[in-house]
Amino acid sequence: MMDSFIFPGLTTRVVFGAGTMARVEEEVRRLGHDKALVLSTPHQRADAEKLAESLRGLAVGIFPGAVMHTPVEVTDRALEAFCASGASAVVSLGGGSTTGLGKAIAVRTGADQVVIPTTYAGSEMTDILGETAAGEKTTRRSPDIRPETVIYDVDLTMSLPIGLTVTSAMNAIAHAMEAFYAPDRNPVIELMAKDAMTAFRDSLPRLIENPRDGSARAQALYAAWCCSTALGYVSMALHHKLAHVFGGSFDTPHAETHAVLLPYTTAFNESAVPDLLRPIAEAFGGDSAGGALWDFAQSVGSPLSLKAIGVKEADLDRATAIAVKNAYANPQPIEPGSIRELLQAAWDARRPVG
Ligand code: NAD
Repeated sequence: MMDSFIFPGLTTRVVFGAGTMARVEEEVRRLGHDKALVLSTPHQRADAEKLAESLRGLAVGIFPGAVMHTPVEVTDRALEAFCASGASAVVSLGGGSTTGLGKAIAVRTGADQVVIPTTYAGSEMTDILGETAAGEKTTRRSPDIRPETVIYDVDLTMSLPIGLTVTSAMNAIAHAMEAFYAPDRNPVIELMAKDAMTAFRDSLPRLIENPRDGSARAQALYAAWCCSTALGYVSMALHHKLAHVFGGSFDTPHAETHAVLLPYTTAFNESAVPDLLRPIAEAFGGDSAGGALWDFAQSVGSPLSLKAIGVKEADLDRATAIAVKNAYANPQPIEPGSIRELLQAAWDARRPVG
């Protein structure tokens, strides 16, 4: 029981279920728009074209150029397309990269956003935008960034390759993990974070057996919504900082980086707040939260070592230096020696001990 808290309310409308993509037109019109630009990555261009066709007159074009980390050059080109099309809303179809581009357009133009997530990365419920300019990624939070409507169509996640299914889910679990000890946590987010843990625990093994298991896909996407909400409404700490350091300065892949770091960052903070992280060990079963997540990651084939995602051992000193450069709130104090040890354990794939 939390003695005191602030619950800010949830502002994004959520439409969840198989086949809900058929409701995009209705949802865009509900926001008062009759012209929208459809966004996607180059990889999901065919899906964006199909969606635009189904929207008939409402879609005034597509921009299939979204890439990871929202480079401002891509945003500039997308903005040109947005302004030339006369659209007043964007429909972002895809993972965090496409959602990021939609947010970048929205924050510059006031456009409304309807987001249709196809991974579990969790950008859709948040007021966070990370953008890259001149090779440097900066992140900001603002109410204008948060999408108005999110349509979770379970059918669209059927094609998510199993490797990305697993790492994207671990990426999502990281949002829930840090929510348990967030200084601004509240009971609603805590309930969602707990539910997400058990939903991923149950659905991922089923998806490994059969990636097209509809009810497991629904359970995983529901968990992703819970985790995205946690990310969007409470503060994150060391885990997200380290993922940002590796993605931003060492160009490691987003979902895999989160997946690798998760057991080690959990164990690091567990020594400071064991009670707050107990729901993780309860959900996954095990002697400790960090150990339970390591075992779960191994059981679902998620990468466990920084080495496996291309980080060189010689990079660990520089990563430590970047991670400790600016002060930020974290349950366990941030010190160069202990962070360096954490990264070594993550490089060696050493199971955390409880
Ligand atoms: P992504 O959006 O780059 O997608 C990875 C690849 O998978 C892309 O080629 C995409 O087209 C493809 N893909 C996506 N869904 C698919 C599907 N269902 N079937 C087949 N292919 C599919 O990767 P991501 O991990 O979703 O997002 C990572 C990006 O999102 C990073 O830039 C990260 O910083 C950002 N992000 C931002 C926030 C936030 O709140 N601002 C939160 C989470 C992630």
